[in-house]
Amino acid sequence: MPGRLQHKSALITGAGSGIGLESALLFAAEGAHVLLVDVNLAAAERAARLVAERSPGVQAAAFKADVSKEAEVKAAVDQAVALFGRLDVMFNNAGIMHPADDNALNTEERIWDLTMAVNLKGVWWGCKYAILAMRANPTDAARGLHTGGSIINTASFVAIMGAATPQLAYTASKGAVLAMTRELAMVHAREGIRLNSICPGPLKTPLLMDFLNTEEKRERRLVHLPMGRFGEAIEIAKGALFLASDDSSYMTGTDFKVDGGLTSC
Ligand code: NAD
Repeated sequence: MPGRLQHKSALITGAGSGIGLESALLFAAEGAHVLLVDVNLAAAERAARLVAERSPGVQAAAFKADVSKEAEVKAAVDQAVALFGRLDVMFNNAGIMHPADDNALNTEERIWDLTMAVNLKGVWWGCKYAILAMRANPTDAARGLHTGGSIINTASFVAIMGAATPQLAYTASKGAVLAMTRELAMVHAREGIRLNSICPGPLKTPLLMDFLNTEEKRERRLVHLPMGRFGEAIEIAKGALFLASDDSSYMTGTDFKVDGGLTSC
């Protein structure tokens, strides 16, 4: 049976760890060529080697880019098109969270600016250059490619409900990702370019575990999780695969929640 991303190519940011790494492995297993983009080149290269080992039939390459820098994001998209001939899936997933409580009274301006630059501006650049690349995709009915492309932006459950352990800049940046994605989805719908956000719940990845850095803090968070456990990065990757593939061909502008029920409490 052909993979759900057969003949497609994908660019994933933050692909050196967590959600990005699991998505690269899964997308490749489903037949996509993948460009693994990360500010940490060594991590991206390690991840690309793993993808190549597990899915030898597809192309996997690493690329260093800081998503907060427009020229670097453009270069990454150009590289994907140069390697694979087209870009079908853009997963704007890289993100950062300051590993300390940040509220309206104590957040430093430099933390606010850095968080916005990576989590929000980085997603804007990714959308901008992916849209330009996807517009150039030829229609290819023979290969069953029905859409110009799928763009997935990683937001967070905090964009919907906030966090009692405050991360002001992070929460604001993720809320803005949802709003920006909805607007871009409307603007580009007639071009066959779909844009959706994915909203992960709390996960067992370095990003959150660096913040919840004691057993006590983790236990306190676990009490509030309906399923009584943190999510795994692969569980988010499976949601991203659905949004990336033609299985979600009539979905655009959604906030796709993969959060173990947290935001429904
Ligand atoms: P992670 O820390 O495991 O991986 C993040 C990756 O992004 C790292 O490889 C890092 O090097 C890369 N990165 C950081 N800044 C970058 C930059 N400027 N340019 C390019 N790459 C950069 O984190 P994760 O948990 O996999 O998080 C992925 C996304 O999911 C983030 O957007 C995060 O905000 C979001 N998210 C995570 C959780 C969670 O609980 N972990 C919950 C909701 C949303």
